[in-house]
Formats: sequence, C-alpha cells, structure tokens
Amino acid sequence: MNKVRFGPSGTTKTLEPLEALKYLVNIFSELKAFEIPFTMYQYQLPSYSTQYMESFQKILKKHGIYASCHAPFTISLTNSKQFHLYGKKRLLKVMKLAKRLGCNIVVIHPGGYQEGLKKEDHVKLVVKHCKEVLNEIQNIDLGLEITGKHKQFGKLEELISVVQQVDKVRIVLDWAHIHARNGGILKSVDDVIKVLLKLENVLGKEALKNLHMHFTGVEFTIVQQPTLSLETFLTGKKEIIREGSERKHLPINQNSPDPKLVLKAIKEFNVSGTMICESPLREKDAIQLLKVYEAL
Ligand SMILES: [Zn+2]
Repeated sequence: MNKVRFGPSGTTKTLEPLEALKYLVNIFSELKAFEIPFTMYQYQLPSYSTQYMESFQKILKKHGIYASCHAPFTISLTNSKQFHLYGKKRLLKVMKLAKRLGCNIVVIHPGGYQEGLKKEDHVKLVVKHCKEVLNEIQNIDLGLEITGKHKQFGKLEELISVVQQVDKVRIVLDWAHIHARNGGILKSVDDVIKVLLKLENVLGKEALKNLHMHFTGVEFTIVQQPTLSLETFLTGKKEIIREGSERKHLPINQNSPDPKLVLKAIKEFNVSGTMICESPLREKDAIQLLKVYEAL
C-alpha cells in the first residue's frame, strides 16, 4: 500500500464539496484524499443540512478517503484585533463544520506580518491564538501552512516554533510555497531531503508519519526588500534581503518545482501522509502525482 495518499483541493468540474467528492470517487477512484477549499467562501461560510453532511461522511468511509479542509484567507492569527473581532469565531466555525464533514485537519495561512511587531513576537501571538481556538474544540487538528509570499508569516522556522509549543497544531508543507518563497530553491532530491531532515531533527520521526502536504506548479517573482531601521539610518548601510514571492499556481508539468524530485525524496525518506494537489488541473494533476510516485 502507498504510504502517501493523493487527492485534489476541489475538482475542475465543481468546487461544491459533495458534488466534487461524488465525481472524484466515480471517475478518479485511485485518489484517496480530498481537501475542501473553503477559501471560496471568504466571508460567509455555507450551511449544510445534517443529511448533506452525513452523505459526505458516508462516501468518505465507503471509499477510504482522508478529508481535510482549507480555511478562508480572511482569518488572521497574527492580527490580535481582527482575531478577537471575528477571526476566532470564524475559525471555530470552520473547524466545527470540518468535523461534521469528517475532516481530520483544517489548514490555515497564519496571516501577514504586522507593522511594528518584532518577528519573535509574531510567534508568541500565533501560539496564543492557536491555544485559544484549540481549547474550545477537540478531535481535529489545526494545520499551519508554510506560506509563499514574503509579507506573510509562515516560514519553516516560525512554524516549527509554534508546533513545538501547541498540541494539535501540525505543520503543512506546501512544496510550491517553499520553492517560490526562496526563489526556486528546490533543485535536487537532496534539497527536498534536507527539508524533511530538518523536520525530523526538530519535531521527531512522528512528524513524518502523518504529514500534510500541498503541491502545485508555481510562478514567482524575486522581491528585494531593504531592511529599514535606525541602525541603517545611522550607518547609512542598507541591507537588502532577496526573497521570492508566489505569483500564481501552474500545472505540475511546468516543473516549478519538479514533482519528481519532491516525490522521490518523500518516498526515499519514508514519509507517510497526504499530498493535496492545488494546481489549476486539480484531480488530473493529482493522478499524475500518484503515477509518478508509484513509478519511482
Ligand atoms: Zn494554502
């Protein structure tokens, strides 16, 4: 049996969860994972009947599908004011809904960097907000995703630090985001293995036993940011940070990053878990990923 299950985020036919799931099990039965993109409902979450949610769960069970969902981008864990005004309420609502639909994990982009707040204070704030949410709900994990834009909180180091401090928070490895944010950094199987090794070293082998991952091709730009501080003003020395930033998702055959490298490393490193395809071709590329993985 494969150690990694593959599946799409929504489908090209429809994003509507129940319809998408039915289409998937009928036509792409090799796919054993499915992510509901609640990102399509940024403000008003849908309400489903009990019957709807039961049918959804029944199909998951019958076909052995691992379900997850992606929270709207409008929830921020780095902005305290916004979080207490509506973010926390909205996230709890997503998590409750996800649970009733049979999802195991809710994936979230933690939010943007806040002006005037030190980098290390962002970690503290995210830890605090994750705890507040997870104190109010059981039996579902919160997945913090590595982000692809330079203005977003969510680098590997930052997320590792949060995961070490809060139970039930898992790191979500988005390979396209890792690639984009670092200006196309994944160039060999060894590069991918180094990322996995880092996770294993700091979070232990357990972290690689049920790893949640995203994959898509990605177009990115290189951003140059001067670091501005009193120090740079006084010394006149401007330090320039070069970073990449995600622009848009591409089909996986664009090899940005190369799916073969990532899948080979995952197989060699014995990673178990889930790989969700977020490319514009969704289920069609998810099948391609599965084929590449199986052929290795
Ligand atoms: Zn995401």
